[in-house]
Amino acid sequence: MSENATPRPPIESGCPDGFQYMHPVMVKNYGNWAYHEDPEPGVLLHVAKSGDKIWTVRCGTQRILDLFTLRKLCDIADEFADGYIHFTIRSNVEYMVADEAQVQPLIKAIKDAGFIVGGTRNSVAMISHTQGWLHCDIPGTDASGVVKSMMDELITEFQEWNMPNRVHITTSCCQINCGGQGDIAINIQHTKPPKINHDLVANVCERPSVVARCPVAAIRPALVNGKPSLEVDEKKCICCGACFPPCPPMQINDAEHSKLAVWIGGNHSNARSKPSFQKLVAAGIPNNPPRWPEATAIVKRILKVYKEDAKDWERINDWVDRIGWPRFFELTKLPFTKFHVDTWRGARASLNASTHIRF
Ligand code: SF4
Ligand code: SF4
Repeated sequence: MSENATPRPPIESGCPDGFQYMHPVMVKNYGNWAYHEDPEPGVLLHVAKSGDKIWTVRCGTQRILDLFTLRKLCDIADEFADGYIHFTIRSNVEYMVADEAQVQPLIKAIKDAGFIVGGTRNSVAMISHTQGWLHCDIPGTDASGVVKSMMDELITEFQEWNMPNRVHITTSCCQINCGGQGDIAINIQHTKPPKINHDLVANVCERPSVVARCPVAAIRPALVNGKPSLEVDEKKCICCGACFPPCPPMQINDAEHSKLAVWIGGNHSNARSKPSFQKLVAAGIPNNPPRWPEATAIVKRILKVYKEDAKDWERINDWVDRIGWPRFFELTKLPFTKFHVDTWRGARASLNASTHIRF
């Protein structure tokens, strides 16, 4: 290297620096906010210690966005906001303005363009979904379609502050991976063990890694028609579908036997109360595209009872903790069966709790 050569700077990859995209008022007051208020549904007002104020208007989208819609949303930012937007983790678009007089014209422009404003405080936040058909290799349903159908029916709950507290709803298209955990979660539930295409296993799958994936050690190597394959002990199989991603010939998705299930009371955060696991409240719901009416009806029924019975600011898990599960099933009129109870008794022996492969 010659004396005057300048070293090539490293190529940065990953997320770009977010500050370059932030509204100048947010950059100036970063980390120095005094308080925030909710002037109306879908609008947040943040007041900085310096006295600066910034209004945020939250706009719901259909989540999976085409380029033309994105351009339309950006044009609204250029014309009616200060030219800045950001996406929330639930795929809302938020516009920021530093002048209160801009708020109402901005809301009008958003609504005139066919979008909705809401999703703050005690509303039903935008439903989140896993990627499903678009990006993944194992979905059993189109989670984004479930979300679209449900949001169409819950649009008022997004736009208004009707709920006792905020409600996060999630959907997921398989049972094991990035699946939903929320106040209400609508998840795929397989009800039959995988069907094995023995002709393909030897060509496609790494059998030890498939065996190791099974949480209840139900898969064993086997010779079928002289070819190395796998077999499943169907008495042990819990139909989780974990063997399907590493071995597509273990086909578990099924038009009839892959159902939807509704779980409630999940809470990741420990900000105000302890985190909690979600619990199964309805299973065997038909996976019925394109509008999933049965699943939507159950979610609406749970929301109605929660709205009528919970005290102010109780999240769904707090509400059920107070009234108890028997009362929850009584109020929602959802059938309670023995399959709702899992005490995990015997789990030490049956669940795969180590990295050892057992046959
Ligand atoms: S939930 Fe499952 S199927 Fe859906 S995107 Fe995540 S890993 Fe894929
Ligand atoms: S991984 Fe899940 S679906 Fe596959 S055999 Fe084991 S329990 Fe059954």
